[in-house]
Amino acid sequence: MTMTPLETEIRRRIALAGPMPVRQYMTLCLADPKHGYYMTRDPLGRAGDFITAPEISQMFGELIGLWCAAVWHAMGRPENVRLVELGPGRGTLMQDALRAAQVMPAFRTALVAHLIEISPALRRRQQETLRTLDVPMLWHNSFDEVPDGPVIVIANEFFDALPVHQAVKQINGWYERTVGIDHADNLAFSIADEPIPLFDQLLPQQVRDAPLGALFEWRPDNIALQIGRRVARQGGAALVIDYGHTESAPGETLQAVGRHGFADPLGTPGEVDLTAHVDFQALALAAESMGVRVHGPLEQAEFLRRMGIERRAAALKANLSAEQAIGIDVAAARLTGEGRTGMGKMFKAVAFADPKLGALPGFVR
Ligand code: SAH
Repeated sequence: MTMTPLETEIRRRIALAGPMPVRQYMTLCLADPKHGYYMTRDPLGRAGDFITAPEISQMFGELIGLWCAAVWHAMGRPENVRLVELGPGRGTLMQDALRAAQVMPAFRTALVAHLIEISPALRRRQQETLRTLDVPMLWHNSFDEVPDGPVIVIANEFFDALPVHQAVKQINGWYERTVGIDHADNLAFSIADEPIPLFDQLLPQQVRDAPLGALFEWRPDNIALQIGRRVARQGGAALVIDYGHTESAPGETLQAVGRHGFADPLGTPGEVDLTAHVDFQALALAAESMGVRVHGPLEQAEFLRRMGIERRAAALKANLSAEQAIGIDVAAARLTGEGRTGMGKMFKAVAFADPKLGALPGFVR
């Protein structure tokens, strides 16, 4: 089997410096400037490797646009607001959100859109999608480049793409999981020589009590801290939607996906998407430590229903043929459904808001 160019590079680094932490492996696979998965391609959509909620239906982005407009209103309608999207993919969510936000023209006039995107390929795609909109737009590499002031932040399927650390519990502590080369000359998982000092004390009780051999994944939650600090100090709110678990728990969720199917995470580095579930408890704790109020998490299905997906679907269907209307029903079922293809239960929505805002749309009945 031929080796991907990134595998050659990873083997070179392992030969030089020894096995690398899973987090470093995942970072190279996704974001290596030359060979990283997101840096070189547009992986989204039916023809790509996976499909996301905004690509399934315009209703998703529209409801988020209404959420943003309502939050802006609750903020006291500031004259200038930064509408920030983390990892905007093809720009579809932003496009649908801004169209829906036309119901509140003053909000459209007040906002500047800030798109946080590391991939040159997807940036081009976003610029193409959003080209004709009459809203000022700026692109950045990271959240901390967004200028001071009140913000409304949205992130769909962004956090799952951030690299995770993995550690394995042994009798005398937790050991960082690494990627090295085994006796058969294949990339293989292994663990570090020494346990991570004092790691146990940082873990929530239910993780600390896990049996020997258990695996725990975590992200250094810098972005959650930055968002929490910005929202708490300068006002606004953030909405995060992703798949994951409500409470921190042991277990491996690192997965590789290519061409709409599962793949081996070590098989073709740089050619497949790598993700891991979002630990909503850890995310919320990080943001909360900065002084925001946490709303949710609740299941995506419940969030979308409270935001009015049924009404929106009916309105769209009213202008369509019976055949086209079925497409709307199928999309709504996919976004809110349970089971293997449904996103409604697996995906969660959580918001971090300035405590002054009170109740938030979508998070109250
Ligand atoms: N939100 C979009 C795309 C999700 S895919 C949707 O729902 O369709 C993940 C997105 O995050 C891609 O745009 C990817 O290029 C971007 N991304 C991944 N890691 C990033 C990072 N560290 N900083 C900024 N963007 C990142």
